[in-house]
Amino acid sequence: MFSTSQHSDAPPLTGRCYCSHTRLSASRKPDVVSYCHCNSCRRLSGAPVAAFAAFAETTLTITPAPTRANTVTEGVTRWFCPSCGAAVAAAYDYLPDQIYVPVGLWDQVESLEPTTHSHANYALSWLHQKDDMPRHTGSARTTLLGDD
Ligand SMILES: [Zn+2]
Ligand SMILES: [Zn+2]
Repeated sequence: MFSTSQHSDAPPLTGRCYCSHTRLSASRKPDVVSYCHCNSCRRLSGAPVAAFAAFAETTLTITPAPTRANTVTEGVTRWFCPSCGAAVAAAYDYLPDQIYVPVGLWDQVESLEPTTHSHANYALSWLHQKDDMPRHTGSARTTLLGDD
């Protein structure tokens, strides 16, 4: 806010948790943005479908670094704001070097449209999303890692 603009490489993305205690910034666009229909993400978010942006670990900054973490599913670590408890990040052992941030935390969420569906086989029957994006029945691992 009080930047003297000597840094022309300002982060293209900024975000915050529900209570604003936890701030996020990313120096690059996410690798991918995906819907996730799995039961874990549904319970975590409380929403019919979750959406996450995947960032290379080195491009993401979270301040203060979240110390409150939880592992419910083996191989999945989720971090939460210590003040409001909102989910702010997640890491998956099978998706190395990537951090997943709920897309709704970003100030620029309007520009972060998902391009794929993960675990589409768990999509709720009454949820009608009219798009032509790929619907993966699993984790869409290769899509998420950008391997194509
Ligand atoms: Zn918070
Ligand atoms: Zn999920």
